[in-house]
Amino acid sequence: MHELSYATSILNSLLEAVENQKELGRKPLKVSEINLEVGELTLIQMEQLKFAFEVIAEDTICNGMKFNIEYIKPQVQCKDCGYEGDVVPKDEIGVYCPKCNSMHLKIKGGKEFNIKNAILEFDDEE
Ligand SMILES: [Zn+2]
Repeated sequence: MHELSYATSILNSLLEAVENQKELGRKPLKVSEINLEVGELTLIQMEQLKFAFEVIAEDTICNGMKFNIEYIKPQVQCKDCGYEGDVVPKDEIGVYCPKCNSMHLKIKGGKEFNIKNAILEFDDEE
């Protein structure tokens, strides 16, 4: 399952961030939220990703973490008519130019999968 590998990589990044904070002498109690940027062309099923994450993160500091997801619209450049901008994926395989219906597109955005940041709660905060 594709989503499980994304969930694992998110968990590993978060646990690494938590370790870094510990090395700085802080005491993270909980990772409460994460902000993600997800391109619509990644075709990641976020519900499945969240479910997989809940399972693998159950015994970690990330248990119960909330996902905030910002979806990024696909951006293309059409090689036939020169159109640049948003497209709406019509099916799982392809996107088409909204002006000329060409499939000769250069994908310029929409495949992102970025962790923008995560919100940690600390024991040492007033
Ligand atoms: Zn076009």
